[in-house]
Amino acid sequence: MSEHNPVEGLVQVRAAIRRAAADGGRDPASITLVAVSKTFPAQDIAPVLAAGHRVFGENYVQEAKAKWPGLREGHPDVELHLIGPLQSNKARDAVELFDVIHTLDRPSLAEALAKEIARAGRAPRLLVQVNTGEEPQKGGVAPADVDAFLEACRDRYGLAVEGLMCIPPAEDPPSPHFALLNTIAARHGLETLSMGMSADFEAAIQLGATHVRVGSAIFGARPRKA
Ligand SMILES: *Cc1c(COP(=O)(O)O)cnc(C)c1O
Repeated sequence: MSEHNPVEGLVQVRAAIRRAAADGGRDPASITLVAVSKTFPAQDIAPVLAAGHRVFGENYVQEAKAKWPGLREGHPDVELHLIGPLQSNKARDAVELFDVIHTLDRPSLAEALAKEIARAGRAPRLLVQVNTGEEPQKGGVAPADVDAFLEACRDRYGLAVEGLMCIPPAEDPPSPHFALLNTIAARHGLETLSMGMSADFEAAIQLGATHVRVGSAIFGARPRKA
């Protein structure tokens, strides 16, 4: 285990969420902390579970499949969120493993998820990822295409979309992106807004985030990918 203490990180992040909620006149209970445990081994996650936290986010289907069935054994009330890009050929595993998928962003994936949901008789909650910065290398639906995509999800694929998610460009101030996501969601009456990470979750809460995805502020720095 690393020297960093994830339970201390958790306590600090929870306190910061309460302060940001109070500043914005919001009920802290309306904000869900998704503890992003990608790349961290089960032994780093176990203390956070033992401290009572139940909502976790992972980026990779294979990694989550290896780690979570064991971790979930003593904690059947864990809620697992997929926050990384999803390949259509992993839709079956994703539907079996995750309770919420934040990264629905194209018709082929909507089709694959609809098929696996029907087959499994189990439906994860779904968020559409919006590429608010229109970055070519990033997943997500372009802001101009969100209306048509939501309509296709509903009418063509029979999927109930609960909300929207975004990852602002690293080099931009995040608040205009959070505000844009909020505006698009309001236009569609969508209540879930997944936005804000370690560096900017307070700003996201000011702009209406219902889910903040926080990794390094809880678990410490992730080893850099080789
Ligand atoms: C890794 C990741 C996070 C957490 O990032 P931190 O900066 O460590 O809080 C949040 N959202 C997504 C989509 C991620 O990939």
